[in-house]
Amino acid sequence: MADKKTKGETLKEKLFYEKKHIAKLLTDEQAKQAEKFSKEYREFLNKAKTERETIEYTVSSLKKAGFSEFVYGQRYAAGDKVYYINKGKSLIAAVYGNESPDSGLSILAAHIDSPRIDLKQVPLYESSELAYFKTHYYGGIKKYQWPTIPLALHGVFAKKDGTKVTVSIGEEPNDPVFVITDLLPHLADEQMKRPAGKIIAGEELNLLIGSLPFKDDKASELVKLNILSLLNDKYGIDEADFLSAELEAVPAFAAKEVGFDRSLIGGYGQDDRVCAFTALKAALDIKETPDKTLLVVLADKEEIGSTGNTGLDSSFLKYFVADLCEPYGVAARHALTNSLCLSADVNAGFDPTFPDVLEKNNASFVNYGVVATKFTGRGGKYGTSDASAETVASVRKIFDDNKIVWQTGELGKVDLGGGGTVALYIAGLGADVIDIGVPVLSMHSPYELTSKYDVYMTYLAFKAFVKR
Ligand code: MN
Ligand code: MN
Repeated sequence: MADKKTKGETLKEKLFYEKKHIAKLLTDEQAKQAEKFSKEYREFLNKAKTERETIEYTVSSLKKAGFSEFVYGQRYAAGDKVYYINKGKSLIAAVYGNESPDSGLSILAAHIDSPRIDLKQVPLYESSELAYFKTHYYGGIKKYQWPTIPLALHGVFAKKDGTKVTVSIGEEPNDPVFVITDLLPHLADEQMKRPAGKIIAGEELNLLIGSLPFKDDKASELVKLNILSLLNDKYGIDEADFLSAELEAVPAFAAKEVGFDRSLIGGYGQDDRVCAFTALKAALDIKETPDKTLLVVLADKEEIGSTGNTGLDSSFLKYFVADLCEPYGVAARHALTNSLCLSADVNAGFDPTFPDVLEKNNASFVNYGVVATKFTGRGGKYGTSDASAETVASVRKIFDDNKIVWQTGELGKVDLGGGGTVALYIAGLGADVIDIGVPVLSMHSPYELTSKYDVYMTYLAFKAFVKR
């Protein structure tokens, strides 16, 4: 017979807040579903490595699920499903609810850009008979992590005649890849004395793309010429076409299961495509019309401050909500002010190899479920939207009522650094916003890690939210 619990033990159980490992809480059926979900998620990571590719993937999934392109001025009915593409790089999907939009919307907002290496506008050069692309990195990276790994090139050439040439090279088994070189350790005595941020300097992130000369006895820069000749054959472009191109070098390796127990997912760009995918899936799987109209927002440019007309520090969300409200004679400001938004973004999972940067009571842990982050920011909370206690309470209720395994998280110890999300921009429109997402290890590296169970639980959390 088990020992009877003491009064203290019983009281402790009742009063203490304790996190539990997700493996103890998932049912066998959920664990099975998590496996299935993770496989589809890894396929998505391999197919959609850039913001443009994520939009393409998203639109094709939305169409299959009965979503149609939003038509301005049309009055839609409860249960109708639409999507709006903003310049090919951000998107809003909507499911009309039973209530009028001024009762508030449910907004799930994730970003689909990830740190990477962009090409400059005059990228191609030859030096010592090797051909390279000059690059300009995008987002917060540790530059030393990007040399000596296989990189793929994704993007577009926009031609003067209005046509576009799409590029994706380095992903198929027989594709070539591209590499940024690094110095051999034998000759790196001076390099290794540089501060870590400059071990590889920005202007040393040069992408090696070829080494053979064009066969000609007179012309100069023959390796560069040979590359341009190959590019002209394949894509019909010349050097000037790079001026109006957007080409992104991203890690060429595929997403994989990690660990003997296969419990983790390794892959590029999980910040924040893990939340984009889970949010999208939650919207695709809606069976019953919710009361609140749902918006799933997939935004570009979060990694560089949500700038530009495809980032959330622009008006595309506000304008869309205005267009959505107009046929109902409702002002967008009422819909937005009454909205509840989950800013779907990742948090830093506790890494025991680097325990000093996170404060354990408030950090998020891998395999402890989806993370709710009340505030981000730096220093004295600068730059955060800081969800109100009431907002956190309403999300707590949704999660607890739906048996969501969740935890709280903080982006680092006080004064050690910090970060931001799209939360403040949507809060700036009047909505109540809280950050919700997946704990990630090695965030912003070429190969980020998440837990299968956390990813699946994030999907379940979004599913619970979109039922509102
Ligand atoms: Mn993010
Ligand atoms: Mn990020």
